[in-house]
Amino acid sequence: MISVEIDSLLLLLGFSLAFIHFTVPLTYYLYLKRRWLWRPWNIKRDPGYKPRVTVIVPTYNEARLINKKLDDLARQNYPRELLEILVIDSASIDGTVEKVEEWVRRNNGLRIHVLRESVRRGKAYALNNALKHADGEIVVITDVDATWGSENTLSEALSWFSDPGVGAVTCLKQPANKGSGEVEEGYREFYNIVRLAESKAYSTPVFHGELAVFRKELLEKIGGFPTDIGADDSHTATRIALMGYRSIAANNIICIEKVPHRGYHDWRIRRAQHLVQHFIKTLGLLRRAPRIFKPTLIVETLLHLVNPWLLLASILILLYLTATNHVPAIIFLVLGASLLILKPFRTWVATQTYLIAASLRNMWTKEIVWRKQEKR
Ligand code: GDP
Ligand code: MN
Repeated sequence: MISVEIDSLLLLLGFSLAFIHFTVPLTYYLYLKRRWLWRPWNIKRDPGYKPRVTVIVPTYNEARLINKKLDDLARQNYPRELLEILVIDSASIDGTVEKVEEWVRRNNGLRIHVLRESVRRGKAYALNNALKHADGEIVVITDVDATWGSENTLSEALSWFSDPGVGAVTCLKQPANKGSGEVEEGYREFYNIVRLAESKAYSTPVFHGELAVFRKELLEKIGGFPTDIGADDSHTATRIALMGYRSIAANNIICIEKVPHRGYHDWRIRRAQHLVQHFIKTLGLLRRAPRIFKPTLIVETLLHLVNPWLLLASILILLYLTATNHVPAIIFLVLGASLLILKPFRTWVATQTYLIAASLRNMWTKEIVWRKQEKR
């Protein structure tokens, strides 16, 4: 009798956890989409605004992709005299620097400097090193394995800075190839809408290293990029938003990112680790958030740090009940599992799994200096 009651309570608990797990993000998504996605920006953007800009390209063993990256930068139609490129290399052993030097010999007209570190201490450390040499008012960070949507991408990104209230700008992402990319694409559609709507409301706490643009004076104010966590892009943008400047992802700026063909799951887990680190570090700053930013930050923090565990707890409870032949629990589990044939559901569950694996993995390694993964 008592055990029947406990079973029913457990079932109710398992059901409620699953319910909260799915309805919180779905409600947030629908709210953003209905309320903010189509709103005006409230930013005075001048498409003709042309500040002095420094593009920092961090490299570690990028010999295979660096030419394509430099070609992509060279096709940008931004005035040459206002553009400076800094390649900061951290002791690559595959001839990356030689490739850059060779490229520079073949292409004159672009102001490009190579900085070399003798020891690899991680991307953020290298970015800070490069920052000391940057002479632009605006600083752009970009990954070697990403290309930009068009030759106007840089101009478009910089045009937002004509409004002094804008502190940071990032792109929306498109995966370059399919394959394991099936999950990747579904994931992107959903998150691009979220990032864009958050940006229209005020700012987004998630930025992309494929194209992350910052006002240099603000970078200096916060002491450069954080070297104790992996998400240099997102955390820096969030710090800037906390200071009262907009940190936005804009819809006229697209990055095309390569996805690893091997070790896709490891890659997703490492990136999730960095995001988890970012949101944990942001917890201590929540109190200082501008009122308009607080709801976004709180919901995103919950979604990254807490929500995945609700799903896991719910599954464990249902599995336990299944082991005791509890029929409603079995039905509920089977129904849940059969939903996995739906792509969006599969994508969602995969992302939750990466976040859980990431939180666990963070306990023994923070992946500040990570293994390079080959991308296609
Ligand atoms: P992912 O985009 O998260 O897969 O990370 P990547 O491996 O693509 O790294 C992002 C960018 O940082 C790439 O351009 C890398 O070459 C570069 N990078 C990674 N680690 C280091 C490092 O320790 N030093 C420098 N200078 N660049 C790095
Ligand atoms: Mn990359």
